[in-house]
Amino acid sequence: RTRSSAELIRAEEPVLAHNYHPLPVVVARAEGTWVEDVEGRRYLDMLAGYSALNFGHRNPVLIEAAHRQLDRLTLTSRAFHNDQLAEFAESLAELTGLDMVLPMNTGAEAVESAIKVARKWAYEVKGVPADRATIVVAADNFHGRTTTIVSFSTDETARSGFGPFTPGFRIVPYNDLAALEAAVDETTAAVLIEPIQGEAGVIIPDEGYLTGVRELTRRAGCLFVADEIQSGLGRTGTTLAVEHEGVVPDVLLLGKALGGGIVPVSAVVARRDVLGVLRPGEHGSTFGGNPLAAAVGSAVVDLLRTGEFQRRAAEAGVALRDGLASLVGKGVVGFRARGLWAGVDVDPAIGTGREISERLMREGVLVKDTHGSTIRLAPPLTVTDEELRSALEALEKVLMA
Ligand code: PLP
Repeated sequence: RTRSSAELIRAEEPVLAHNYHPLPVVVARAEGTWVEDVEGRRYLDMLAGYSALNFGHRNPVLIEAAHRQLDRLTLTSRAFHNDQLAEFAESLAELTGLDMVLPMNTGAEAVESAIKVARKWAYEVKGVPADRATIVVAADNFHGRTTTIVSFSTDETARSGFGPFTPGFRIVPYNDLAALEAAVDETTAAVLIEPIQGEAGVIIPDEGYLTGVRELTRRAGCLFVADEIQSGLGRTGTTLAVEHEGVVPDVLLLGKALGGGIVPVSAVVARRDVLGVLRPGEHGSTFGGNPLAAAVGSAVVDLLRTGEFQRRAAEAGVALRDGLASLVGKGVVGFRARGLWAGVDVDPAIGTGREISERLMREGVLVKDTHGSTIRLAPPLTVTDEELRSALEALEKVLMA
């Protein structure tokens, strides 16, 4: 007998670590923008795996690439070469306009890897005295969950109880070039920021901030590391969010959608003079660059090369923005949107982000709160006008109730 949603939720409680508080929906299958629960109820997925599902659930082109690879070769480790990795690195370098790729698996691993690369670059190329390198980051950042990464988080829930922390980070307010300038000195290896702060509530910096970070880091002789793990790969209407200001970072971090929602694939992409500091034995990962990941990653890059998903995100993003604008004053107190990505602040009198998310779930729409009364919308880039309209109608209904 198959177990019901309620039974499955109850069954998790004693055996699964409680590090998440999921909405009470148990998804059993999915296609495109839609997921279906154990009882066959259908929901519009307006979260898309925190942007890991930019191309939709079970995108047929990506599923086909994964199937083809599953039938030939899945893992070699980097002890040997595999026949998929060269193409993946070539196509990703070409897509991003950078030179070299360090393949990893999760987003946090890409961030950790970039921190190591930036420090090594600082010692070997910039000439920072041993163990003195600093990295400047922004308040309210989200870069992952490892001990080093939570060392420079400003979210007490993410940090509390997990010390001692890794030293060598300076935290400045986001979107504040003067504070950044004051924090950067001769020990600075890198400035690490999200071009748009996703988990903080889709915080979009002022026009000119990213250009300012680019100019400042160039002047100071340190690296600009852009964490585009959530903002990149089509989400904001361009391949990368930094393109909105025509800026090219020294180091680019990608993850989430790079694995097509099928396998974990992340990457550090950088110029040769930066990633070139790594030599055999200094860094690695058993699964990083595995042939299945590389085959899916190459297929993801092929999808992005068409420009179709970026165009769709930009176009549907206008409808999303207009729809949200029409709800301001009707339960929405503010919102920020770029492409198919929005942070929506709901009037706290109506409910917390969590409560709004639960009510939307009962209307057949899945979203996720960030904190307080903010919810985030990030549907697959394949979302149709009609699906988007019906999600916005559900939001209006919940806000009016
Ligand atoms: N960086 C950013 C900007 C993210 O949004 C995330 C995940 O939400 C991460 C890093 C961490 O990625 P992962 O959960 O794959 O470790």
